[in-house]
Amino acid sequence: MKENPAMNKVYENMKPGVLSLHGFLGDDKRDIELIIDHDAAELESLGVTAVEIAAGLEKLRDKALEGLGDYISLEGGFSVKANSIRGKLPCPFGHKGLYRKNVVSLSGPGIDSVLMFTDLGIHLVREHGFFQGKGSPFRLEPAEIAGILKKLSGDV
Ligand SMILES: [Zn+2]
Repeated sequence: MKENPAMNKVYENMKPGVLSLHGFLGDDKRDIELIIDHDAAELESLGVTAVEIAAGLEKLRDKALEGLGDYISLEGGFSVKANSIRGKLPCPFGHKGLYRKNVVSLSGPGIDSVLMFTDLGIHLVREHGFFQGKGSPFRLEPAEIAGILKKLSGDV
């Protein structure tokens, strides 16, 4: 149990099967605050902000949605597609509002199979600096995604 009662609710929300099938923490044993701190330090060393990453992910998502479920080719051998799944998800941190279940899949050089993110995931990065726990299917590695967005900066 954590000291902060408000965070207990967040931990509960992030467990598999509470808000989403896989949850948000994967097999990461670090506290949520520590995950955020470690990723924030990495972003700082990269010279990029979570808000910039979120903006890049949003552009990628908008591009992907144009494909209506098919892959769209981007520069540098990358391709992206969006699958819209019925239903909406709330923010596990307790923000008001619901996020559509668009799942964006990105593939290309240096990516092991595909890299996936959702509308809620974009919100978590932008508002909470939270890239999810290691082992979560929607975990984004800050250095990896920052590098990809940099390569795609002319295209998205
Ligand atoms: Zn939120």
